[in-house]
Amino acid sequence: MSDFVSLLGDVPLTTDAAIVKRKSRDFYWYSPVLKARLDGLSADVLLTPRDEADLLAIAQAARASGTPLTARGGGTGNYGQAVPLAGGAVVDMSGFDRLLWVRDGVARVQAGMNMLALDRALRENGRELRMFPSTKRTATIGGFICGGSGGIGSVTWGGLRNTGNLLGVRLVSLEDEPRAVELRGAETRVVNHAYGTTGLVSELEIPVAAAVAWQDLALAFPTLAEACAFARRFAMQNGLEKKLVSVADAALVPYFAPLREATPARHAVVLLMVAPSALAATEELAGDMGGVVVHRAVTAEAEDDPTRVPLYELTWNHTTLQVLKKDRAHTYLQTGFPVRDTLALVARMADLLGDEMMTHLEFIPNEGEMSCAGLPVLRYTTPERLAEIIALYESHGIVVANPHVYTIEDGGAHRVVSPQLAADKQRFDPLGLLNPGKMRSFDALKPA
Ligand SMILES: Cc1cc2nc3c(=O)[nH]c(=O)nc-3n(C[C@H](O)[C@H](O)[C@H](O)COP(=O)(O)OP(=O)(O)OC[C@H]3O[C@@H](n4cnc5c(N)ncnc54)[C@H](O)[C@@H]3O)c2cc1C
Repeated sequence: MSDFVSLLGDVPLTTDAAIVKRKSRDFYWYSPVLKARLDGLSADVLLTPRDEADLLAIAQAARASGTPLTARGGGTGNYGQAVPLAGGAVVDMSGFDRLLWVRDGVARVQAGMNMLALDRALRENGRELRMFPSTKRTATIGGFICGGSGGIGSVTWGGLRNTGNLLGVRLVSLEDEPRAVELRGAETRVVNHAYGTTGLVSELEIPVAAAVAWQDLALAFPTLAEACAFARRFAMQNGLEKKLVSVADAALVPYFAPLREATPARHAVVLLMVAPSALAATEELAGDMGGVVVHRAVTAEAEDDPTRVPLYELTWNHTTLQVLKKDRAHTYLQTGFPVRDTLALVARMADLLGDEMMTHLEFIPNEGEMSCAGLPVLRYTTPERLAEIIALYESHGIVVANPHVYTIEDGGAHRVVSPQLAADKQRFDPLGLLNPGKMRSFDALKPA
């Protein structure tokens, strides 16, 4: 380690063990399985680069000394993505925090910029983020692209990896001669959901949408089936501008502070973000389908106030967090429902799992048709039972992206990385120094 540090020049760093340990953690503890595996792991040093020259110095020093590097944004990843498995250095990207330009519906941004700060800066230009995770208030844009998969906005724009959602990337490679590389179009996939194993990303180019004054709207329905039927119908209305369509089982409502008083007992809820122009028609459609309004707010007002909860912080992976805040005996899964018989399968899984599972859905298009992702909240008993539940979902044709594993391969539906990503890894990090252990197939091939 002293070799590495002596090669870094004036790159800011600390070896204070308590700080380094804190910055070596993320939200892996969501999973009892990962908690047992990753607790206590830490880097040896924390680096806080200021600019690309610092990133190049870090990459050169890592190559020369064989030191592992793990990039870090907001540290909100769920699968230990930002936890260093082999010590070395954590590279804190939070100094890369500027919006560089916005033109013609495209923004160029430094990768460590906080997503709430970015959205606010875009709004000064009449634009907004197309898509953000429910961790918007703490996550970075680079961490979202490198670790996330979709979120608020996905009902309109699809998943993060869908074509067109990432336009350009600048990264610092760990090639024989580390350098800054500019990638465009399909080449940008090298960093998408690659857990920082293919480069230290310094800048990103993303499409941005016209700014909308989003409204939070929560609706209660007497049954889960009615809530799901409304959510699906609403999600498919092209004339109603929307950013979020989420469904939560009645059993989840007691965990939702902004809703539990106003929601009638044993009612499921649909959580929406809608444009002001769509508000009246949405409420009318909900009324026709048996729903009642239980909460209305201006999203930005809730978001700007640290004491309030915007509705999106009850959705996506935040739903599970609301439960875990009260009761650590739960965990979750990430599932993708097929476009055929979607709601029949939702009902079937609710039936089969009974009170062991609380249904939570996020509506998102799949191959041009409206479907949904499920993030069911599960009562946790044993790893064996968790594996049985995963097998049960898969036996019904429901895809599971397992959140209880830390490698890219095991967390994906197909358990492999694409040949292109494998080739890019070989090209940009031939010694395997970037977040080692996270791309299982590469590490298996690497010479000892
Ligand atoms: C409560 C909660 C809710 C969540 N909701 C969502 C959601 O709605 N949608 C979703 O997709 N995810 C969600 N997540 C997961 C996570 O928040 C997102 O993936 C988030 O965008 C990660 O951003 P971050 O800045 O915290 O990244 P980090 O956790 O710091 O990093 C994530 C990964 O990216 C790598 N990385 C970070 N920055 C760089 C960089 N500049 N260059 C190279 N590699 C880099 C890290 O090494 C790590 O592997 C949620 C997690 C929690 C705990």
